[in-house]
Amino acid sequence: MNTYQVVELLGDGISPELSRSVHALADVLPCRIEFTPVDLSEPNRRARGAALYDEAVELMKRHRLAIKYPTATTAESPNQVLRDLCDFAVIHRPVATLPGIENNFKKTIDIDVVRIATGGTYEDAGRRIGNECAVSVRVIERQPAAHAARFAFQLAAAQGKSVVSTSKWTIQKATDGLFEEVVDGVRAQFPAVQHRRELFDSLLAGLIMKPERYSVIVCPNEYGDFLSDQACGLIGSIGLGDSASYAFDAQGAVRIAMFDPAGGTAPDIAGMDLCNPMAALLALTNLLRHAGEAQASTSLRAVLLECLAQRCSTRDVGGTLGTSTFTAEVARRFQARLAHA
Ligand code: ATP
Repeated sequence: MNTYQVVELLGDGISPELSRSVHALADVLPCRIEFTPVDLSEPNRRARGAALYDEAVELMKRHRLAIKYPTATTAESPNQVLRDLCDFAVIHRPVATLPGIENNFKKTIDIDVVRIATGGTYEDAGRRIGNECAVSVRVIERQPAAHAARFAFQLAAAQGKSVVSTSKWTIQKATDGLFEEVVDGVRAQFPAVQHRRELFDSLLAGLIMKPERYSVIVCPNEYGDFLSDQACGLIGSIGLGDSASYAFDAQGAVRIAMFDPAGGTAPDIAGMDLCNPMAALLALTNLLRHAGEAQASTSLRAVLLECLAQRCSTRDVGGTLGTSTFTAEVARRFQARLAHA
């Protein structure tokens, strides 16, 4: 049985319940996960300050795999601090139609948004020039663009999918031109993967009109941010998805991979056995895929979608189950599926 060391970044609100669900599923996996917990809850962050983050990052560098639960943004944003300290260069956001979740979209969608985690318009808040004018700087860097492109092509190659790179290279000639140039360089190393460029505005319309034409999409930071939210809107849920952040070494190999549910801390329902652990469990499926446990990943995902479709789920998505009974049911079905595989 393969064993993986995973740093578990505990947060606030519903975080302990999400952790219990993840552990319950980890207990029935066909591989072993040894968790090293780090308490990133707000009281502990206040008490320990920078030393706590240093400890977390040191462990993440050592074990290379982490799962993180929602943290309250107070004096600082833990996500931002971790991004800076770990040098996360790429964010991966899978977004797929979820059975049983109401939405305003007639079609189905199954995409992977791969974005550069830094730069774009997000590094510079800008400045006023007199009263009537303001400017800001937009940044595209070759190395993170190359990491994002390589990650996108590897993901597509592993799953027999195609890659679309998207930006506004016809207008942002220097910045987005550099991004597309880097993508073209990486593309040459993956001759078996189909690739096309699409202007970002046209892609936003295309995704709605012909979603079947899109699978892995790679783009600069802010476009990825907009696109992820649009895609989540199409599937009718911002909170049910997961995301992953990757840092790389100089050779381009993944140095740290951190997986997290996209939703917030939901303090209003914390500790009440009401929260939906779906996004945290989807984050676990992505962690398993990345670790090389493809079958366990696919099976767990299939069980989660089956539960949703049958409304064997928590109340927020139309079911009647509490967090713990839902988790137990997912674990039971997962074990049954593995036994018949
Ligand atoms: P934060 O400040 O961390 O974003 P929040 O409560 O303001 O916390 P969310 O956590 O996104 O924002 O919650 C918004 C609403 O969605 C709340 O009513 C919350 O109870 C509900 N919610 C959020 N996550 C879940 C979940 N995992 N399961 C069930 N309901 C949830």
